[in-house]
Amino acid sequence: SDVLTDEHSDTLQGRKDTQHLQQIMTQSVESIQSQVDQETDIGRLKSAINSNLVSIKSGVETFITKDNERYVKAEQRNQSLKQQLKLMEQESDQLQKKLSENRKKLMFDALTGVRSRLSYDELMEQEFSRWSRYQEVFSYALLDIDHFKLVNDQFGHNAGDKALQVVAKMMSRHIRKTDFLFRIGGEEFVLLLPKTSRESAAPLVEKIRSSVGGASFHFKQQKVDITLSAGLTAIEPGDTIESLYERADAALYDAKHAGRNQMVVKS
Ligand code: GH3
Ligand code: MG
Ligand code: MG
Repeated sequence: SDVLTDEHSDTLQGRKDTQHLQQIMTQSVESIQSQVDQETDIGRLKSAINSNLVSIKSGVETFITKDNERYVKAEQRNQSLKQQLKLMEQESDQLQKKLSENRKKLMFDALTGVRSRLSYDELMEQEFSRWSRYQEVFSYALLDIDHFKLVNDQFGHNAGDKALQVVAKMMSRHIRKTDFLFRIGGEEFVLLLPKTSRESAAPLVEKIRSSVGGASFHFKQQKVDITLSAGLTAIEPGDTIESLYERADAALYDAKHAGRNQMVVKS
């Protein structure tokens, strides 16, 4: 902004200087013309013309000097603008990098390393529009740790956190590269299985559930048993993301009420 203000005032000054030079030229030329018309003595005419030429010469010299100064200043401004621009480009590159790093961080849950709620919203939209456009079926499972509140109450919040990490790791081990695992709430996970029917998804979800249910981990020498309940469904005509979630949630509710540590499939 400072540079532009300088530039502007120099341009104005340049215009003034040009006008001033024009004035000097016009006056001197007019004066020469009238002296040529009126003066009869060649000596006096020569000296009068000479004095006008001197003022033209000095006017032009002054103008050129000032114009050169302005040119040098403009060059300096140009250089400093280039430098500032380079700095700003570097800063903007760094910010861009930070932004994409932060975005990546936001896509994953800090505690468990599985995908985050934000990533869930994005990928569900994507999967749902693929379904709407190409009828590409996908399966959807809600997995919820049983009586997790008790784990926290009995062993403490840190044990609860460790349990979440262990469970997330076990689940991740069983899924395929094309599947997505999200932590969408405290101890609630979503498994999204693209291009997978309910029938093909069921054994996979059941394997995940039973492997978590069959294992136990230790926290400060204490054995902590964790089980999972699962509600599985697949996308159907007329579904929305909400109705899909509600059906999986209803299946999960049934699994909880049937005694937990099991999977219920709903269509
Ligand atoms: P249910 O079998 O019906 O699912 O019972 P539940 O106890 O698992 O379910 P509820 O929703 O009553 O309790 C969930 C608990 O999960 C409550 C909360 O303290 C705990 N929780 C949620 N997020 C975290 C977390 O990040 N770390 C820990 N340690 N606990 C969490
Ligand atoms: Mg629970
Ligand atoms: Mg829950």
